Amino acid sequence: MIIAIDGTAASGKGTLGRTLAMRLGLDYLDTGQLYRAVGLAVKLAGVNLEDASDETLKTLIDQLDLCQKFGPELRSSEIGELASKVAAIAQVRTSLLERQRDFAHNPPHGKGAVLDGRDIGSVVLPDADAKFFIDAAADIRATRRHLELKARGEDIEFSEVLADIIKRDCRDKNRTIAPLIAASDAFFIDSSDKNADEVLAICLDYLDGGHEPQAATGL
Ligand code: C5P
Repeated sequence: MIIAIDGTAASGKGTLGRTLAMRLGLDYLDTGQLYRAVGLAVKLAGVNLEDASDETLKTLIDQLDLCQKFGPELRSSEIGELASKVAAIAQVRTSLLERQRDFAHNPPHGKGAVLDGRDIGSVVLPDADAKFFIDAAADIRATRRHLELKARGEDIEFSEVLADIIKRDCRDKNRTIAPLIAASDAFFIDSSDKNADEVLAICLDYLDGGHEPQAATGL
């Protein structure tokens, strides 16, 4: 059983992925974390993305232990922004593609996997058994992300979080390689007026056959 979840920044993909995996006894991979780990590695190695060669990026990623326990810095707005920049580079996506597929096809506990990201249903796992695409109004997503960052101790204004989310979505949707897009067979959920439990219930109902696929209209 392979489930693909895609969606915009702070739309609730991660919470849905984690809870869905837990309910169904599947393994979970947050693929945004992989891009964030590459962004952090680029920062720590002092690599200039403007002129970094494919070889430099490939070596950096090959040497990276993506299973390590990362600190809270990985979830910061700075690393989110860097992740979105490295995610637009073809070499970075190529280096991470097989790792994501391998996790999905050989999940640690053998039963199946839930992966969330931006291109899971469209590029990484086009044959996934079920696909979800989740979105919400930008100001609502920014409110959620602002609360999350504040709780982590980051001193950041709401307006900055909103601008960051809009900029990141725009870069993710408009890049040439594997842009953020809803697969045509994805089930679309607008989480603007729904809490995490409601979104989870809708997805479980869909998996039980309670809904027809519903194309994304917002993108
Ligand atoms: O989901 P999260 O905010 O952690 O993702 C960080 C960034 O990683 C996104 O803005 C996006 O640019 C990139 N990403 C991606 N493809 C994925 C997952 C994340 O391009 N499958």
